[in-house]
Amino acid sequence: MVLVINCGSSSLKFAVMDMAAQRPVLSGLADRLGLDEAVISFTHNGERVSHALPHPDHRAAMQALIDYLQAQGLMARIAAVGHRVVHGGEAFKASSLIDANVMAEIETCVRLAPLHNPAHLIGIRHALEFFPDLPQVAAFDTAFHQTMPEHAYLYAVPMELYREHGVRRYGFHGSSYRFALREAARILAKPAAELNLVCAHLGNGASVAAIRAGQSVDTSMGLTPLEGLVMGTRSGDIDPGLFSHLADDMDMSVQQTTAMLNQQSGLLGLSELSSDCRELEQAQAEGHAGARRALEKFCYQLAKHIAGQLVAAGKIDALIFTGGIGENSAWVRQRSIEWLAPLGFALDLAANQLCTRGQGGFIHAEGRVPVLVIHANEEWMIALDTAQLAHIS
Ligand code: ADP
Repeated sequence: MVLVINCGSSSLKFAVMDMAAQRPVLSGLADRLGLDEAVISFTHNGERVSHALPHPDHRAAMQALIDYLQAQGLMARIAAVGHRVVHGGEAFKASSLIDANVMAEIETCVRLAPLHNPAHLIGIRHALEFFPDLPQVAAFDTAFHQTMPEHAYLYAVPMELYREHGVRRYGFHGSSYRFALREAARILAKPAAELNLVCAHLGNGASVAAIRAGQSVDTSMGLTPLEGLVMGTRSGDIDPGLFSHLADDMDMSVQQTTAMLNQQSGLLGLSELSSDCRELEQAQAEGHAGARRALEKFCYQLAKHIAGQLVAAGKIDALIFTGGIGENSAWVRQRSIEWLAPLGFALDLAANQLCTRGQGGFIHAEGRVPVLVIHANEEWMIALDTAQLAHIS
């Protein structure tokens, strides 16, 4: 079995994957770490249990996980640990077995992902302490996009910024795209290396990627996960002139504007109600103007980015929707595909309605460009990489 860990700044997500059965035997989340009301929850054998965490830091959360694994007789069955790491810079083109050099490279990438990589390092250090004899693997969100050509990854700014400071587009959600590619190959019965796809990962964070001959050739996120689509609380594309405009007009600092663009924008900023797509769909149905405005902008921006990624992907075998919104929101899929009608897209509306709550499949109208809904499973992709690098079955 493989333990998959996703350590955030105030959370620790985990899953124990049974590689032979190809499913999780345990999953869970320690949340609000650092606050008094921190909790840890476990979903095991179809049941969910939660309890408060007495001393809420990442180490305490991992100790609670270890205690649970021991009590359930799972501890001895774990053969390797896989860690999600957001930023691998240009150093990592694939998942890697963790050693001192890999730790140092992840540390180097802290300047590119100051909110994420420090938390991942904490998680890895605790896991090395609790599982000193097990192989540990880092799976990077950025690695899949390292095949992007220069014309896709460069910004049109002085080259010195790229050469000296690593300023370029990196892209994220790589584990989700790799899983979707694998699934698409299975469903379309075509080798992954021969597939051209545009894939939309729509969760709280959202991006679109172009895959040509099984490799990422462009994606909507850039140096950071802020660029591209409208997201739950992130703005996506804006004019960088906004920074000086807000500094002049409202005396806002770079930090204040950055925080606003990351935490108070997107669906939340536009709707003035919620960052949650499901809640907004309900509010829209009840006539809430802000919810309608936010969802319309979300779908329009998504359609524009899908159209843009078609330039990179070429003639595609399928357009894929994945992630919480992509898998569940028939409304978002329908509205965004309506914008794409001139490019040969149309949905089978009944098939589209059926794809929700884990139900995937084809949703395009007969004779149109294939559109496929795939249930995201980043943890499984991380577990597969871990098992392969650790030579366990
Ligand atoms: P994260 O990026 O945090 O992993 P998820 O992939 O779980 O997030 O996606 C969360 C988003 O999916 C939320 O906006 C949520 O409202 C949306 N979502 C989940 N179920 C539905 C649904 N049935 N209809 C519309 N949106 C949904």
